[in-house]
Amino acid sequence: IILKTNLTPQELKKYIKLISKEINKTVNLENQKFNIQSSIGISIYPNDSINLNQLLRNSEIAMNYVKNNGKNNFKFYKHEIKENLMKQFGIEIGLRKAISDDQWEIHYQPKYNTSNDVYGCEALVRWNHPEEGIINPDNFIPIAEKSNQIQDISKYVLTEVCKKTKEWVDDGNNEFISSINMSAKELSEDSIVEYINNGLNISGLNPKNLEIELTERIMMHNKEKTITNLEKIKEIGVHLSIDDFGTGYSSFNYLRKLPIDTIKIDRSFVSGIDKNSDKLKITKSIIEIGEKLNMNIVAEGVETENEFNLLEKNKCEKFQGYYFSKPLTSDEFEKIL
Ligand code: C2E
Ligand code: CA
Ligand code: CA
Repeated sequence: IILKTNLTPQELKKYIKLISKEINKTVNLENQKFNIQSSIGISIYPNDSINLNQLLRNSEIAMNYVKNNGKNNFKFYKHEIKENLMKQFGIEIGLRKAISDDQWEIHYQPKYNTSNDVYGCEALVRWNHPEEGIINPDNFIPIAEKSNQIQDISKYVLTEVCKKTKEWVDDGNNEFISSINMSAKELSEDSIVEYINNGLNISGLNPKNLEIELTERIMMHNKEKTITNLEKIKEIGVHLSIDDFGTGYSSFNYLRKLPIDTIKIDRSFVSGIDKNSDKLKITKSIIEIGEKLNMNIVAEGVETENEFNLLEKNKCEKFQGYYFSKPLTSDEFEKIL
């Protein structure tokens, strides 16, 4: 729709709301009801461009932003949206090269028990970019998930971690457990069980030495398929752990449904637990539930001695965080094993 009148953004908003109200009506087609929604992008002459084609393209960019961020809304074009899009696109292209050239580095963060022994680790991937150096996963994993490149990264991580862990187990750490992170989308795909089996077979690692960390978001994708896959993974003998516990929705509900061995208390509850009584209450109840359901509890993001002392006092038995150690390269990790 091209409006040739001179309206302020405020006045425009009123029009847009009228338009979406008109579109968002239920339609009856052959005895079936359809709910229609609208995603609207707006660009304004002359601020957003003086060129008609560019103006239309910019409104499309704003519309796609709405489609990718919850839909059924409207958005005014902003230059930052385009810049972000270009940046994401750049990362997506860069990831192709990263995957073909294995530009990955895996860091291992030790996990400790109450006697201050390392009983396992969490493998955390980094992108070793030829020009930009080390890039942290938060900057590329979400993009890799959207562009379906995540499987290729995971395959690498899985194989590498299985191989390294096998070395550590063979060095006499029989009960050592390495965890790897897997995203919701991957765990809903058919091929995942085969991938994991492959990683184990190639390395000769015993499944009991491997753990998959998953987040509460897994319940947002193809639930039935995910639950079946998790049951199969569990059947092989691989451990399952629920990450960032307490940050998603209906956390307690699916604890019952999923074959989980371990709960990781999210850093947001652990950080400053000695200064905030609500955090302490929540953490205590998570520990209690874990005990009742016969699950292990790991506190993640432990940064201070006070946090550690309080967690230990409340019967938390496993810890991970900067207070103990930052994620290490495999060479550094071997020194503390
Ligand atoms: P996560 O699974 O919650 O991993 C823990 C993150 O917290 C890591 O960040 C770790 O370096 C950081 N951390 C550990 N201890 C502390 C602490 O005491 N204080 C603070 N402030 N931070 C701490 P990192 O390595 O940047 O990873 C970020 C996220 O990226 C991970 O969050 C995980 O969701 C994802 N990720 C990492 N590696 C992989 C992977 O191989 N595959 C997938 N799908 N996701 C991955
Ligand atoms: Ca994790
Ligand atoms: Ca976590």
